[in-house]
Amino acid sequence: MKLRPLLAMTSGFLAALAVTTAAAKPLSQEDLSVAEVLRDRALESSDAYSIVESLTVEVGPRPAGSEGDRRAVAWAQEKMKALGFDRVYTEQIEVPRWNRGHAHARVVSPFPQPLVVSSLGYSVGTPEEGLTAEIVEFSDVSELIEAPAEKVRGKIAFINKRMERTRTGEGYGPAVGGRSRGMRAAAEKEAAALMIRSVGTDSDRFAHTGMMSIDGVENPVPALALSAPDANLLEAMLERGQPVVVNLDVHNQRLEDGPSFNVIGEITGRENPEEVMIIGAHLDSWDEGTGALDDGAGVAIVMETARMIAELPQRPRRTLRVILYGAEEIGLVGAKQYVERHQGELDNIIAVSESDFGAGKIWRFDTRLPETKFDIADQMMQLLAPLGIKRGNNQSSGGPDSSVFVARGVPAFGLYQDGTDYFDYHHTPNDTLDKVDPEILKQNVAAWVVMSFLASEMEGDLGRVPTEN
Ligand SMILES: [Zn+2]
Repeated sequence: MKLRPLLAMTSGFLAALAVTTAAAKPLSQEDLSVAEVLRDRALESSDAYSIVESLTVEVGPRPAGSEGDRRAVAWAQEKMKALGFDRVYTEQIEVPRWNRGHAHARVVSPFPQPLVVSSLGYSVGTPEEGLTAEIVEFSDVSELIEAPAEKVRGKIAFINKRMERTRTGEGYGPAVGGRSRGMRAAAEKEAAALMIRSVGTDSDRFAHTGMMSIDGVENPVPALALSAPDANLLEAMLERGQPVVVNLDVHNQRLEDGPSFNVIGEITGRENPEEVMIIGAHLDSWDEGTGALDDGAGVAIVMETARMIAELPQRPRRTLRVILYGAEEIGLVGAKQYVERHQGELDNIIAVSESDFGAGKIWRFDTRLPETKFDIADQMMQLLAPLGIKRGNNQSSGGPDSSVFVARGVPAFGLYQDGTDYFDYHHTPNDTLDKVDPEILKQNVAAWVVMSFLASEMEGDLGRVPTEN
């Protein structure tokens, strides 16, 4: 990245801007200069990589409420203390718990051969002796929902919906319905089981797990994701027109609800410590990989961002609070319980933001701000543009956990990563450290440190954003 000439241009431009319109600009030239220094320092020497390396090597998989989760919570507190946070604490949350056992699937007829599958999160098992049933195919979850029950009863419903690869990840929404709502629909129609084509963009022979809606489903049925090549195989067999019969042998274990934790670390504000800028990521992961991309990288980016701000000669005006949310994967449990518990303090949160889209380069800066505050985003953009970041829209959710705050009117920033490859690895055994590029993490931290420092330091506030409901 050739930054120097661009930086020089930016500085000159800002100086000119400060002279002509200083009174109208909410961010001071001095604050912008500090942010610029932080940004350049992050590009040179930030080390988020060693944090995600530590989390994946020393903790590994950390599904909500598991032994790995407990170790992650201890790891996060120790790491935050070691990085120089002023205050580190946890808040307990209550989470449903589940243990993955085995999941085997094989075609019995007409062309016997094994299939590679993975249980969806919180799936029940089959009877001990397994189950054998005919496949009935649906193009997407809506088709299953609309199907007459007699077409589905006693069969294995197979949702064969492909996900489109995009930089923004917007192919995920249309594809994920089969995973989130398919089991409920299958159970209501008394299917024997549900199988879905993995919600992913790869053609590797492993499946993508993930959460599904289970609350209130009376007679849940086993729910499995097929790897993309295995979904192709099943599709090709079905095209031949004969009944395709599959045997499933699945064993999982639902455990009693138990504790998990949001882990919180703060750089305490020097003037208005009760006012906070919240940056976050989620600490839990799925169980089959080491959660390097989802969301170890995010954890590392926000922790390293706070560490860099803590290194400044003085604390920012208001508190910078890093929240590592618990149990995001199973339904934003940590964020929901946090907002519930801190309802009375939401007005003190200047804004929220979360890093939870892997470890790709940041290419777009989205916001959710009142229109009167767009100037602030424009000023931030002057420091972000040299990092290859362009201005996006004002519809940011701030990230999955942040969206719970946004629903209550809290402003948000979204530093959008390139997600072209993210869904090749998402929720698979292949979500491992080798997918994380240390140099790209530096670019991420550089952008995060600009946004986080300015939001913590700026003199004014960001108002509230009217919510739709
Ligand atoms: Zn995630």
